[in-house]
Amino acid sequence: MEICFITIFPDMMSGPLTSGMLGIAATKGAAEYRVVDLRDFAVDKHGSVDDYPYGGGPGMVMMAPPVVEAVESVRTADEAGEVPVILMSPAGRRFDQSIAVEMSRQDKIVLVCGRYKGIDERVEKLVITDTLSIGDYILSGGELPALVVADAVIRHLPGVLGDERSRDTDSFSCDREFLLDAAYYTRPTEYRGLKVPETLQSGNHAKIDEWREESALERTKRLRPDLLEKQRKGPRER
Ligand code: SAH
Repeated sequence: MEICFITIFPDMMSGPLTSGMLGIAATKGAAEYRVVDLRDFAVDKHGSVDDYPYGGGPGMVMMAPPVVEAVESVRTADEAGEVPVILMSPAGRRFDQSIAVEMSRQDKIVLVCGRYKGIDERVEKLVITDTLSIGDYILSGGELPALVVADAVIRHLPGVLGDERSRDTDSFSCDREFLLDAAYYTRPTEYRGLKVPETLQSGNHAKIDEWREESALERTKRLRPDLLEKQRKGPRER
């Protein structure tokens, strides 16, 4: 899968894209990253990509031509109907695990990172196919949201995780959409008076599976009761 990022801060991307799972996905050839510097599409020799908003008021707005042309540089006209071009925006669809799984089936995606007050509205009409938000708060730019999306997506590409079974028990995983993961322990068996539950040390896999199911349910009830409520209501009332 190819993931293209359009940004005015390409340097922000290099650390995260070469570390941890994002880095491993690239090393294993499952993902390929392309970071496009929006300033390469600037409208003048000073590298301008933003300007004052029509109507006045505080803040700058990213201009349409550099963004549209940057998108067109990574997505050919033939690909226009197929390759998702996603604008990171607090006004977008709330990103979640099911969207991550869906996106991982694409061969290529383009993630557009906004800055300042946002991007000229016409960009959405011209090239954007979807907008995604990573939550109801404002960040200074779309780079971190785009990296969040990329990280969540590449975990679903075949061959990326060392042991893909680990993904199946993660919170929100496909058939556990409304369940958090179980509690985990590692050595030492006792630390400051707190012991690892006996069952987990028993070697009895059926019992361990049962313990983990109970732990997942207990944690969901305690930490995210809204998930169980959502499951109870079913898709219509959600
Ligand atoms: N004026 C805008 C916020 C602009 S923040 C508004 O109130 O909606 C600048 C850029 O950061 C945005 O264009 C977007 O690309 C990114 N951004 C900020 N918060 C985000 C979020 N919660 N999810 C996704 N992108 C976000």
